Amino acid sequence: MKKYCYGICLLISITINILLSIYIYAGGENNQEISHQLSLTWSEKAAAEAEAVAAISCSGHGRAFLEGLIYDGQPVCECYDCYGGPDCSELSPECVADADSGDPLFLEPFWMQNVADSSILIPGWHRMSYRYDDYTMMSTELEYYIRKLHSIVGNAITEGRYMVFGVGSSQLLTAALYALSSENSSSPSNVLATIPYYPMYKGQTVLFNSENFEFGGDTNSWRSNNSTNNMDVVEFVTSPNNPDGELKKSVLGGKTIHDHAYFWPHFTPIPGPSDHDLMIFTLSKLSGHAGVRFGWAIIKDKDVYEKVLNYISVADMGISKDTQLRVLKLLKVVTEKDGKPLFEFAYNKMKDRWDRLTSIFSKSTRFSIQKRHPLHCNFYNETRLPSPAYAWVKCEREEDDDCGAVLEASKIVGRSGSSFSAKNRYTRLSLIKSQDDFEMLMQRLTELVSLENGSVETM
Ligand code: PMP
Repeated sequence: MKKYCYGICLLISITINILLSIYIYAGGENNQEISHQLSLTWSEKAAAEAEAVAAISCSGHGRAFLEGLIYDGQPVCECYDCYGGPDCSELSPECVADADSGDPLFLEPFWMQNVADSSILIPGWHRMSYRYDDYTMMSTELEYYIRKLHSIVGNAITEGRYMVFGVGSSQLLTAALYALSSENSSSPSNVLATIPYYPMYKGQTVLFNSENFEFGGDTNSWRSNNSTNNMDVVEFVTSPNNPDGELKKSVLGGKTIHDHAYFWPHFTPIPGPSDHDLMIFTLSKLSGHAGVRFGWAIIKDKDVYEKVLNYISVADMGISKDTQLRVLKLLKVVTEKDGKPLFEFAYNKMKDRWDRLTSIFSKSTRFSIQKRHPLHCNFYNETRLPSPAYAWVKCEREEDDDCGAVLEASKIVGRSGSSFSAKNRYTRLSLIKSQDDFEMLMQRLTELVSLENGSVETM
């Protein structure tokens, strides 16, 4: 009986040892992760520093940054508009609702929720070279993720197309213009866009003051004054458009630069993949990381591609390797679960903002906003209304021909119609800023509209 017991104990002990050995030596990823964690060396200090600054409480109305405001050697809170005090908890009651800039902070809460998956740590020796191992200045892995993203969203054809990265899409707009414009300085290309258009097209064309292109203004007026035969034109087609959110098409049918900054499911239904010769996208309005300064161009023609690439190389010798590392990390999160978490978050936020905005404007006869038309979205596989980044507000009363001034009198700052070469009867209001900014905008608009009905309502 005793011998029998010893035998069983020995067998159990051998089995346990075998299982433990398998667990320790062949335990797969989890164990490796644990053993890596145990052997963290240089990253501990950097991680602790990053977590310490992230933990500074700014009451949800500001942030502290390592390279930001420093007081007594320590990072301190940078408060959002309308908030002040050491921890940004003091709201200024008379504050103006600033809806001017297109700063896409509406997505900050998503990245706070996903901070563990989207953060990077960069060693001091990281990518010191101008180039990658394959002698290019673009990360192949990042390019792969961008192509994957477009195939998930279904908003652009990338198969058989070339890609170039730029410092934001802003840099690529000029690079594209350089690549497409006439090589004959005696007949420079006419650069055109359709009113209301994004002011940077004119701003950059004028600033770069090239012999090969000049700004020609609005496509429709240009067409009625000129014959397109024998004239070299490069047309900016902004789809969806900034400021009014319309899915624009080319008016002149010549050479085009399709600016797709806002062609993402949170701003517009995606009717199908864009298949144009030169398409430009930006991280700024996709994930909200405008500060990272990253954009990309998708190009059909090899010669045009080479010219765009040459521009980027000569202007900047490529773009920051740190930026590319960060964008890769962000896009891994964006493409997770076929893009559902990010686009759901972003779409719901924009939808909620539009619901609240339209409810306020529905009570007004003095002000109107652009009409939105439902469209089938291939990404969501259903018909949806667009939820553009901006409200394009019209002052309807004859005497209100300076709409910006009317709004400013009620503590609302927008961007005037003339900035987009339109009439000042229009003003653009940004809907993609932080929640605080949006709440202040809602409050001021409610007050303004309630004046029409003779009573002052507060929110
Ligand atoms: N195109 C359009 C239509 C825009 O509205 C913007 C930014 N407001 C840009 C391009 C430039 O974006 P970024 O340089 O941040 O990529």
